[in-house]
This record gives sequence, structure tokens and C-alpha cells, in this order.
Amino acid sequence: MKIHRGAMEGIVLLAGIVCSAAAVEHFYCRYCGVRRESVQSLTSGFCLRHPDGPNRGRHALYQGREKSRYTCVFCGVKRADIATLTAGFCLRHPAGPNKGRHVPYRGDEKAQYTCVFCGVKRADIATLTAGFCLRHPAGPNKGRHEPAL
Ligand SMILES: [Zn+2]
Ligand SMILES: [Zn+2]
Ligand SMILES: [Zn+2]
Repeated sequence: MKIHRGAMEGIVLLAGIVCSAAAVEHFYCRYCGVRRESVQSLTSGFCLRHPDGPNRGRHALYQGREKSRYTCVFCGVKRADIATLTAGFCLRHPAGPNKGRHVPYRGDEKAQYTCVFCGVKRADIATLTAGFCLRHPAGPNKGRHEPAL
């Protein structure tokens, strides 16, 4: 198939637009979903949902992409934004049921999720994290499968 010269220029132009869109990306706290224009301004503020307690530590950068919905890495619950996700406590939190909040999975959505410790594959994070892991670092079946990125 021959690509018309004009079409090629269009693709190059489109790539440029995509790049500049990525440049105005926002930065979110992984504990509370607060949004800032730079990592510096994000991590200078104290976080009401910090794992050590309210305002016991600063906002921490969520290192994944912006998404239309966010999935908890421990239990697979899905919410439209990080603020709503992290408002809730997690039944499958590693510290114990409801001992900590949901945490956004930073990988992309995929057809299959693989456990980072043992390699077991499941169709979604909720199903993967329902099972205990024979190769968990805390000991056999001492913790749940955890999705790799
Ligand atoms: Zn925060
Ligand atoms: Zn959860
Ligand atoms: Zn596993």
C-alpha cells in the first residue's frame, strides 16, 4: 500500500499533538488522588490519607498513566478516579482486612494479569488477588497474589 505524502505529514503532525498533550500531563497522589501540575508541588504537600496517618507524611506520586478508571492493586475494585478509590478501605489490604485503603494499580489494563511472585495468570485483578500465593515473600500462602505491571 502506497502512503500519500500528505497523509504521512498528517501522521507526523498527529504524533506532535499527542506529544504536546503528554507534556501537559497531571501528577496525582497515589494515596489520596490530589492533582498537581508538577511532582515538586505534589510532594511538598502533606497527605490526609497517608498510610502512616493523616498528615503524617507527604503526597506520593502515582506513577501510572491517566486512565478512565482505576483498579485497586490488592482487591481489583474499580473507581472513576484515584480520590474516590483511595477514599475506601480495602478488604484484601496486606496489613489486614480494612487496615488500609485501596491503592491504584499503576500498570495498564490487560487481557491477563500475572502474579509477580509465582507467575499464576488470571483474567482480572479481583480474581488474581482472591487467591493466596505459594511463593509469597512472607511465606507460602501468607499473602495474596500480586499483579505484575
Ligand atoms: Zn495524598
Ligand atoms: Zn482494594
Ligand atoms: Zn502468586
